[in-house]
Amino acid sequence: MNNYVSKRLFQGFICLHILHHAKKKPFYGSWMLEELSEHGYKLSPGTLYPILHSLEKEGFIEHYDKNVNGKIRKYYIITEEGVNQLNESKKYVSELVAEIGL
Ligand SMILES: [Zn+2]
Repeated sequence: MNNYVSKRLFQGFICLHILHHAKKKPFYGSWMLEELSEHGYKLSPGTLYPILHSLEKEGFIEHYDKNVNGKIRKYYIITEEGVNQLNESKKYVSELVAEIGL
């Protein structure tokens, strides 16, 4: 991605995307990497995991461990505070989209 503005939007969009999916159903890291890449966001685990950790530290998502075929997998889900953040951000996004158009 070479577009300066898009680059700056990238992190926020990823946070919104993560919160959106964490609200729908629990997900694990590599699932999210694949989901994001389908939307054209090519990111490495080294980029995604710090974002997940900071969202968790802020209290917007939380995780639980699940044993999947002998491997411990971290599943992330949204918290009530995360739902508030998502709703508030969606308001800003839709206002902006209404103004600049699609
Ligand atoms: Zn998605």
